[in-house]
Amino acid sequence: MSDPGIVGKMASESAPGVHTSSTPATQRWAWAKVVSVRRWTGNLLSFSISRPPEFRFTPGHYARLGLGEDADAIEWRPFSIVSAPAEDVLEFFAVLVPAGAFSNRLARVRVGDAIRIEKAAYGFLTVNQLASGKHLWLLASGTGLGPFVSILRDKTSWRAFDRIVVVHSVRYPAELAYRDEIEQMDNAAGDANLRAKLHYLPVVTREPYSGALSARIPQLIEEGQLERALGMELTREHSRVMVCGNPEMVKALRALLSAKGFQVNRRGVPGQMAFEKYW
Ligand code: NAP
Repeated sequence: MSDPGIVGKMASESAPGVHTSSTPATQRWAWAKVVSVRRWTGNLLSFSISRPPEFRFTPGHYARLGLGEDADAIEWRPFSIVSAPAEDVLEFFAVLVPAGAFSNRLARVRVGDAIRIEKAAYGFLTVNQLASGKHLWLLASGTGLGPFVSILRDKTSWRAFDRIVVVHSVRYPAELAYRDEIEQMDNAAGDANLRAKLHYLPVVTREPYSGALSARIPQLIEEGQLERALGMELTREHSRVMVCGNPEMVKALRALLSAKGFQVNRRGVPGQMAFEKYW
């Protein structure tokens, strides 16, 4: 996302691991505890933390997490929330960046560790930024899939759209995180109001992989391959597009969609597209 993170000095509190729920109301952040860590590959992981009671968010929002033992040198980073608002933990999906100050700490995180989280959630990659439409297109690269998993785990979009498209572009097949969960999402499970039909389309760019497309998303759109693969047209009239991930991809897709007449939300007027850069 566009926020690069800061090396922060914020009001320090009691020792990590001791206070996980009650923090002074005036303090901007709260303690949480790591409750699970899942490794997808050597540098891709998901982790979840306990949810401070005061923390509220909308699917698509991001939180700011702080890691470090020395209260004077906490590293803070933004992370999109993967979990749905109804869940009692907060889940995140992260890539470990070589020699990154936060990544070095995140790589060592274990269940039970204490972590700081700002009490507010941030961002504009939410479905309510979009005008109503028929088809929701969620276009992600790498860990940019995270906020879309939150959007899918919440039922709001399943009621609002006829179709939901999820395109996840990764370098290698093992990086297709959350694939099983997304493919198994049962949109019809006992609720006739959840009308959306889901189309999940993996893109693997650095080795051949059966069932996946192999070119970068902007190229797939420019050359019409994405629409052909889905049997759907990308139009300003019916399509609502959310893009998250590699900043260069975000830039290219913004230019491409703008040329088709798509607009972002401006001064409260909902648009046809919304973006989040990841770094
Ligand atoms: P990635 O390099 O963005 O690759 C993910 C997918 O996006 C691949 O399919 C890749 O295709 C595609 N892609 C790359 N550039 C593109 C572009 N300009 N337009 C369209 N598609 C594009 O991301 P990753 O594999 O998740 O992460 C790799 C590295 O990104 C990390 O090691 C790290 O250095 C950096 N990163 C940094 C942060 C941060 O917070 N600082 C966060 C996430 C990632 P190709 O295979 O063709 O490149």
